[in-house]
Amino acid sequence: MQLPAKMTMGSDGRLRVPDRPIIPFIEGDGIGPDIWRAAVLVLDAAVAKAFGGKRAISWLPLAVGEAAAAAGGEVLPESALEAIREHRVAIKGPLTTPVGKGMRSINVAIRQRLDLYACVRPVRYMPSVPSPMKHPEGIDMVVFRENTEDLYAGIEWPAGSAEAGKLETFLREQMGVSLPSGAGIGIKPISRDNTRRLVARAIAYALDHRLPSVTLMHKGNIMKFTEGAFRTWGYEVAAEKFADRTITEAEVTRSHGGRAPEDKVVIKDRIADMLFQQVLLRPEDYHVIATPNLNGDYLSDALAAQVGGLGMAPGANIGDTCAVFEATHGSAPKYAGLDKVNPGSLILSGAMMLDHIGWQEAAELVRRALQATIVQKTVTYDLARQIPGAREVSCSVFARAVVANME
Ligand code: NAD
Repeated sequence: MQLPAKMTMGSDGRLRVPDRPIIPFIEGDGIGPDIWRAAVLVLDAAVAKAFGGKRAISWLPLAVGEAAAAAGGEVLPESALEAIREHRVAIKGPLTTPVGKGMRSINVAIRQRLDLYACVRPVRYMPSVPSPMKHPEGIDMVVFRENTEDLYAGIEWPAGSAEAGKLETFLREQMGVSLPSGAGIGIKPISRDNTRRLVARAIAYALDHRLPSVTLMHKGNIMKFTEGAFRTWGYEVAAEKFADRTITEAEVTRSHGGRAPEDKVVIKDRIADMLFQQVLLRPEDYHVIATPNLNGDYLSDALAAQVGGLGMAPGANIGDTCAVFEATHGSAPKYAGLDKVNPGSLILSGAMMLDHIGWQEAAELVRRALQATIVQKTVTYDLARQIPGAREVSCSVFARAVVANME
């Protein structure tokens, strides 16, 4: 086998992947080490099996979060960010956010510092997974959430602070705005460039995967110049960059009797509150959803609950130059070190990562083996308490059962 080597990016923007790519990983805090051990066992086994031992990942550990602080360093060392940039792809467990001090969130900082502007969350129902819905099998969507701006930009000042006072005076005296006195104030920036690159990525994904529609989710009826503009710029980039391969829903109604041409992706939009209803009532009408940051945060967790909870939801943060795949739940400190929680989210994020580097055979093997394990009712506590007759196993035993199902 080749020596371990870095992935590179060609001038076409595509990854060049050696047989032994070096991939950095961050174990994470709390339950991170438990789920990481489980995930790496499954991912290595799938790669070995899918490629008959000809390919393997060479894992590069990065100390971030509590591990970095324990070694006396910064919680997010510059060297870790540089390693991710350099190696193009990384995977991480959850990182604890210090409350009321220090960095707002290490996770948010990683996304912002690496300009990982698209948070991609596939939500697909797996048979046998307990769901609160009567017909969860209709759910098969991918959410593209903008990751760098909106209220998440963290531009806010506490009630009663000098800064909020200054802004209040400015708004009242210079802008003629009436607002309650002494309020905390936050700012919601949504920009054309960031909207366009996010929506373009979502449309390209729908085209690559032959999916029928992209829905722009917004609250533009109320927030006209932020969320409303997101909608406008979304349609704009579809018309400019993908004119011959997309069609608007309005056009389908007007000129095609309500039936979209098969070779085109339909671009539609929905007000956020209404879309929350629709994903419960008519999930089969939605395929790719592109949304500003805060809506996407709520929607992706609600959708995850519809198909088995956060313990099973994979995610990725993707930019033009690198990508970080991650468990979507937090570090669940009360379960740390108990070898108890569900490693499904990180395992499935790893499968997304294998897809991303073009190792689809291994990704499929992971998904099929995980699915088979759940069908056999061999599950961790979170699913066991919802599946009658389940055999509850630990995090590590679950991982070994997944590997056994690759035989
Ligand atoms: P959490 O997701 O860590 O845990 C909430 C509850 O969900 C847990 O108590 C547990 O009951 C359940 N849960 C979570 N993951 C599970 C799994 N894999 N299997 C089974 N059950 C699981 O949310 P929290 O308690 O709000 O946050 C804890 C810490 O994690 C905070 O510091 C928070 O900021 C951080 N966080 C990090 C990320 C990230 O790294 N991307 C995301 C969310 C929260």
